[in-house]
Amino acid sequence: MISIKLNFGGFVPLSTVDWRGRSACVVFFRGCPVHCTYCQNATLLAGSDVRDTEEIIGMIRDSLLAISGVVFSGGEPTAQKEALLSLARATKKMGLAVGVHTNGVYPETLDALIRERLIDHVALDIKARWARYNNLLRGDYVKDVQKSLALCKEAHEQGHLPEFEVVITLFRGYDDEVPIIAQEAGTVDMVLQQGVTGNVRPLSEEEMKKIADRLARSVKIRTREGGEIVYEGDRSRRSARKRQR
Ligand code: SF4
Repeated sequence: MISIKLNFGGFVPLSTVDWRGRSACVVFFRGCPVHCTYCQNATLLAGSDVRDTEEIIGMIRDSLLAISGVVFSGGEPTAQKEALLSLARATKKMGLAVGVHTNGVYPETLDALIRERLIDHVALDIKARWARYNNLLRGDYVKDVQKSLALCKEAHEQGHLPEFEVVITLFRGYDDEVPIIAQEAGTVDMVLQQGVTGNVRPLSEEEMKKIADRLARSVKIRTREGGEIVYEGDRSRRSARKRQR
């Protein structure tokens, strides 16, 4: 058997907050080329902890009785294509669903996962309108993220990717980004996630609802204080449903 290595970032044996509606374990990959200033997992951006994927498969197997899916997160899981494919294949063989949290800068990895029907859920971060993208990230990734968005949308429409959502991490003063990104997302599920960085006061749930009102569509709003809610907009505020994190 060929041994495939992974630059490993960590493992959570059981999580109920990383994949809505599922109990899952979470495999963190180490390393990400993008280096967002607000990264919540900054300790995973550098360093090395090389493991054999067989070891990680063993960890997943140990969680098997408690979970119905595996989330691959990071860092950036799609940066380590062969390791991710290998782990996704093993996960599927165990009868579990596969979810990936990604910044979309490696569309070829997503394409390979979709082609092999190895993926059930993608949460794709879109960080800004395209015109501002390269100011925020270290490197030029606009075309790659656009490609990832297009191929996930297409796969979702064709039924090859059961769940697809666009995630916007939202900071005070960046409200104007949201309608523009929403246009790119189209009808895809959208999550507004509270951004937390440095001394900047995070947006409250109420402030995020006001921003969402400009979209005239249903969104999910995720904050540290309130967990995740489904927000249908001001005209139907009554139908906003609290979800447990
Ligand atoms: S893309 Fe994600 S993992 Fe990478 S630096 Fe940004 S927030 Fe961190």
